[in-house]
Amino acid sequence: MSLDIVSPADGRLLATVPVHGAEDVARHTADAQRVFDSGVWSGLAPRERAAALLRLADLLERDAETLAWLDMEDAGKPIAECRANDVPGAIESIRWFAEATDKLAGAVPATAPDILAFTEREPFGVVAAILPWNYPLAMAAWKVGPALAAGNCLILKPADATPRSALHLAGLALEAGIPEGVVRVLTGDGPTTGAALAADPRIGALSFTGSTATGRAILETAARTNLKRVSLEMGGKSPQILLADALDFGDALIDGLIEAAFLTAGQNCTAGSRILVHESIAAEVVGRLAGAARALVVGRPDDPATQIGPVINAAAADRILAAIDGAVARGATAVAGGGEVEVLAGGRYIAPTVLVDVDPADPILRTEVFGPVVTVQAFATRDEAIALANDVEYGLAASVWTKSLDDAIVVARGVRAGIVSVGAYSEGDMTVPFGGWQQSGFGGAEKSLAAFHQWTREKTVWIQLG
Ligand code: NAD
Repeated sequence: MSLDIVSPADGRLLATVPVHGAEDVARHTADAQRVFDSGVWSGLAPRERAAALLRLADLLERDAETLAWLDMEDAGKPIAECRANDVPGAIESIRWFAEATDKLAGAVPATAPDILAFTEREPFGVVAAILPWNYPLAMAAWKVGPALAAGNCLILKPADATPRSALHLAGLALEAGIPEGVVRVLTGDGPTTGAALAADPRIGALSFTGSTATGRAILETAARTNLKRVSLEMGGKSPQILLADALDFGDALIDGLIEAAFLTAGQNCTAGSRILVHESIAAEVVGRLAGAARALVVGRPDDPATQIGPVINAAAADRILAAIDGAVARGATAVAGGGEVEVLAGGRYIAPTVLVDVDPADPILRTEVFGPVVTVQAFATRDEAIALANDVEYGLAASVWTKSLDDAIVVARGVRAGIVSVGAYSEGDMTVPFGGWQQSGFGGAEKSLAAFHQWTREKTVWIQLG
């Protein structure tokens, strides 16, 4: 079986890759276990693993333009975004975790005088990561960095549509001197390759990034099989909360709202897709937001001027348009966008859309649209803003726009989300954990030293002294 990789920009065939079935997965996990047990990687001094990962970061830097081009072609992401965000973010991640390799430490608890106890973190052995298509290289790097730094052998399953940057990364790992079989890429679809990984008894930990529905299925499979440790980074419906003084941020406010809503054509887990604005400034914010949305350049992804590329495929376009049309049919108004833009035949491009007067019961306010669509709702009080922000099953990210320290802290504490940014819309840098709450996430964060909880298990050694 094979999988055609098709350009979201124009429907061109870019590549054909194999679909790895359950037997392939079993063969690879057995081989990965052999590589792990041999100690060629797990048995190295952490400083030696760090050196190899630093060489990998250098090689990613050398091939940055190739990698940007692969993600642009496979995912239809604007080339400017791949160059500015995805590839530098991936390099930074590998470098950060390389540097962290020998900074992990256990603990010596305060036991009785006749006991020495210590804890340490050990790798699982064979681990797997299942990736989404919207940040192909960056998500691969978030997993490769800590999984390899900890000494594991990692199997990566890229998203069906976007395997080529992960394949390139695996080639660079070999060139960097990381032994063969330490990181391998198994291409394929979810029901075949992904499901086989979720069920494989040799895999000790599986880190998934993708939709909440798939995360649930993986958790069920793990529960039925070897109870592997599962970490889930899933969808979101993140609010951007503008208190009454938010316009004091000037252009930074509108720039932040636009980037949060429309980066990667809104196909972003942390997309700030719900703007909640104090009623006193709602009219001005809507006017400026609509103007900025209309000014965004929708175009072919290989044009450096493009800000909004195609959506991933026709099914996604149909789903996004149905969500917009449904909301409009129930009384909403599109003050920007609202439909498709002709760019290239064979691709589907949707104009950045701003919806106002949305029915409070409309599903678009609670389901992840995963497209260039943002809704605006007004509120009267701080408590009402917090209640609206929390009126979803997700809990990935949020932003609060106010210069009042008191309001910022009360709202940041009141919102149920894994990361809340103030005066910006940000996922933070490598030093801070990133992970969702509620139906956005489960089982451990990405980035920072917290990520090692996904890829290591704790052991206690308890020594009775004579
Ligand atoms: P998806 O769930 O459709 O697919 C993700 C991966 O899971 C793919 O590799 C797919 O092949 C695999 N898969 C599908 N069915 C499977 C099964 N039954 N068993 C095992 N694996 C299976 O998601 P997507 O459309 O690729 O990505 C978009 C979603 O990812 C959005 O919901 C987005 O919010 C989310 N996302 C979350 C984060 C985060 O960090 N929280 C980051 C990026 C994307």
